[in-house]
Amino acid sequence: MTISPNSQPLISLRGVHKSFGAFEVLRGIDMDIRKGEVVAIIGPSGSGKSTILRTINGLTPVNKGTIKVGDITVSDPELDQVKLRHRVGMVFQQYNLFPHKTVLENVAMAPIQVLKQPRREVEDRAQKLLADMRLPDKANSYPGELSGGQQQRVAIARALCMEPEVILFDEVTAALDPEMVKEVLSAVRKVAEDGMTCILVTHEMGFAREAADHVYFTDKGVIVEHAPPAEFFSQASDPRTAEFLSKVL
Ligand code: ADP
Ligand code: MG
Repeated sequence: MTISPNSQPLISLRGVHKSFGAFEVLRGIDMDIRKGEVVAIIGPSGSGKSTILRTINGLTPVNKGTIKVGDITVSDPELDQVKLRHRVGMVFQQYNLFPHKTVLENVAMAPIQVLKQPRREVEDRAQKLLADMRLPDKANSYPGELSGGQQQRVAIARALCMEPEVILFDEVTAALDPEMVKEVLSAVRKVAEDGMTCILVTHEMGFAREAADHVYFTDKGVIVEHAPPAEFFSQASDPRTAEFLSKVL
């Protein structure tokens, strides 16, 4: 993706702090993400990666700092949740599909029920997205009839069906058997290549290196450093990053 360095960020975080009780999970997070950019967040378990994503989509209210997505101030207590849901999609490690609804119903449900869009139009879009996710013949199946990799691709189609401006992917391959990791990473790559702004929390270093425009490294609630992947993986300078990379590469 070619990104104009001067364009306004689509997403910005400034001085974001979050505590759970006495425990400060985020200790001043700053990020700028431009439209069409693919950002990977990596770091040790418990460093606050999921919490960062959850603050961006409004699931976790912050204690201090500001978060903006386009013209929406997510950190505003008066936040319009429906508008935000429309703009920010999220895909989780556990796909959380409704087991008693078909694949098509799972994908089409939120735009119909939450955004009140016409069923026909949404279902046509859902069918196209299932084809993009290489699941053209699974519309009438139930989640339990699909493999983990297929269910995760349904979850990605469901996020896309809301036509968001950004999709947050939280370790979407972590629960999958190795042979399914590749097909889900290909699906994520397609979403990115089609121009979607993506923030990926991932332990797949090879994927971060290839697919991301920018890599952020978190440790204990702070961003230790960030750089384009070629630079990040070859000359990360902080000892915390070096230590992490020595364990995972
Ligand atoms: P990561 O995704 O990098 O593994 P998380 O953002 O999930 O890290 O969590 C960071 C820290 O915050 C962890 O120590 C976790 O136990 C704690 N934490 C996350 N969510 C909550 C919560 N709802 N209540 C209390 N502690 C939480
Ligand atoms: Mg996490």
